[in-house]
Order: sequence, then structure tokens, then C-alpha cells
Amino acid sequence: MAEIVINNLRKEFGDFTAVQSSSFKIEDGEFFMLLGPSGCGKTTTLRMIAGLELPTSGEIYIDGEEVGRRPASERDIAFVFQMFALYPHMNVRRNISYPLVSQGMPRAEVRAKVAEVARILGIEGILDRPVGGLSGGDRQRVALGRAIVRSPKAFMMDEPLGALDAEFREHMAEELRALHDRMGATTVYVTHDQLEAMQMGDKIVVMNHGVIEQFGRPQDIYDKPATMFVADFIGSPSMNFLKFHGSVEAGATSVRMGDHAFGIPEMREPFDGDMVFGVRPEHIHLSDAGDFRGEVLAAEYLGTTQIVTVKTAGGRIKARVGSDRRVRMGDHVGIGFDAARVTLFDSQSGRALR
Ligand code: ATP
Repeated sequence: MAEIVINNLRKEFGDFTAVQSSSFKIEDGEFFMLLGPSGCGKTTTLRMIAGLELPTSGEIYIDGEEVGRRPASERDIAFVFQMFALYPHMNVRRNISYPLVSQGMPRAEVRAKVAEVARILGIEGILDRPVGGLSGGDRQRVALGRAIVRSPKAFMMDEPLGALDAEFREHMAEELRALHDRMGATTVYVTHDQLEAMQMGDKIVVMNHGVIEQFGRPQDIYDKPATMFVADFIGSPSMNFLKFHGSVEAGATSVRMGDHAFGIPEMREPFDGDMVFGVRPEHIHLSDAGDFRGEVLAAEYLGTTQIVTVKTAGGRIKARVGSDRRVRMGDHVGIGFDAARVTLFDSQSGRALR
């Protein structure tokens, strides 16, 4: 079990800064996601926590002890890679027992440990098979088995499901999460897949260009994005953005965009300048009435819902509505926004205005 505290952690490669001063806390037993697009610095952050990369500055505390400059072997952390990193010529049992044998654990104890891990992962039946011929999913289970067999303080996982096809990936994600819930060990998990992060994580750090954009629970990040980057990166289709120039007073509950006034959550601070009105597709409703109107450009059927693209004076808007609502291309529809779910952003900084 481990609580991990990251304080002003920074990594430079020559004159390139891969991770800007990052700070966050991973609670004991949490399933913690590092999420962001390719190259944003998530793997580098994970590698620093695991001890595979030396920080340029800042501290890493595991259970209160600063370990940032200690070798990986002294941190008691297991690393699970995307590339299964197994020994293909050995059978499953030997792959899983390898870390214990190399520690010099007595044979009987090793056998008992491997049997227990195999039972947890449901792979008792393949212990004597060579890993070379196993399916992707079984290989991933063996890789997990090798990581959990020595009961480390924490797990670091770098896109562990990246090599699996979409359908199986979802199944393994559920399995992994269930395994975590049974074992309760702190897990730090790198992914660029926002859905995976939302489904699996207790907490998420969203990174972009080496900077932490937001840190919080999946629901909070989805409902209250701190920046336009987060709002755009999380959710599919992503949040609609309408750019406009205007002003809002402190305490305002509506904002004027051209000829129309739209409801917003109560503002704490005043703002004047270029703003962006952000609303998720599912927080838009279409009606026959309403003076904010647009023309339907497309309707994409998704089963219970459909995504309707509407051309308005302020730009294109995507709305997620029930598929029982009949819409045809060329229809003129009224558009309403769920005021409580709107986010206003400062257009220049991209930060949410509250
Ligand atoms: P990906 O999902 O593509 O791996 P990532 O978010 O995990 O992306 P990192 O692997 O942490 O990103 O890399 C962050 C940046 O640092 C990238 O621009 C990468 O090219 C650079 N980088 C990583 N390792 C090194 C290194 N050893 N030397 C120089 N640059 C590096």
C-alpha cells in the first residue's frame, strides 16, 4: 500500500522540458490515471515515479519518504508495459515466478504464490503452456501475474491495454479494475484514451505539453473542465464552443451573445472581453420554438440517441438528442441550452470563468 506525493516535479531533456513543475497527490489504494495526448509527458512522469528516469528537480514521496533519487529497486514498485515484456521461451509458471526465484524465495513458497496469483487471474489452466502461443489477453494476464506476484507497494502501468483490439480492450479494462478493487494496491496508469480514463480511474490528471491542465475525479473533470483543452479532450463528441465578445458582471446568471441572452451558472467574477460559450452535446435541446435557431446539416443515428449537427449564426453545434425525435436535413430548429451545465471560458487563456 502506498500514498504517492509529487511535488514540483520537472523533467528536462537538454533544452526541451517534457514535464513542467507538476504537483499532485495519489491516495493510498487509488486507481490513478495520467491522461493526455501523445508527447504530453505522461510516460516521463510515470517513469520518474517508478525510478526509471531521474527528475531534473522536484520531489517524489512514497509513504512520506522522498525517493526521487533512489534507484527503482529500492522503491518496491512493479511496472507493467504495453509490450508484454515476457520471456517467450518460458512457460507461464516460470514467467510469473521469475521475480520470486530471482529474489531467492524457497521453491514451495514460490509455488504457493504462483498458484494464488493464477487463481486471482483465472489462468490456472495454462500454467504449463509456453507464453509464445498464448492469445493477447492471456499474455496480458501473465504479465499482470508477474507484476502482482511479489505484492509490490504500487503498480505503474503504461498503456497496458494498448496492444489489444477494441472489444477485448474493454473486457480487460473491466478485469483490471476488478483486480485492483480486490487487491487495493495503489495503481498509476498512463493512457491517451479519455474513455478508458473516465471508466477506470478514481482520479485523473490531464496533461498537455508537459503541463497539468486539471486534476480531479472523472465526474468533476467532465462537469467542470478547468480549461478549453480539457473540455475538448474529454467527451465524445466534444464540447461545443461558441466564440463571442461581451461582458458579464459578478453574480450574473445570463450572458448576451449578439441578439440573444443565454442562461449560465452564477458568475463569481466579472469578465469583459473575448469569451467562449461551452456546452456539451447532451446539454442541448432542440425545439420547434425558441428564437435562437439554426438549420440541420446532418443527423447521425447511434441507437438510443442521435448526434444532430446544426448550423447557427454563432457556428456549428452538435446536439445529442433522443433518436425518437424526427429531424431531417434542412429543418429549421430552435436550440436551447441547459444553463446549469454551460461553461464560459476566457478565449485568450482558455481558462474557465466561474
Ligand atoms: P506517448 O503516449 O506518445 O508516449 P507521453 O505523453 O507518454 O506520450 P512522453 O513519452 O513522456 O510522452 O514524452 C514527452 C516528451 O518528451 C516527448 O516530446 C518526447 O519526445 C520527449 N522525450 C521523452 N523521452 C526523451 C528522451 N529520453 N530524450 C529526449 N526527449 C525525450
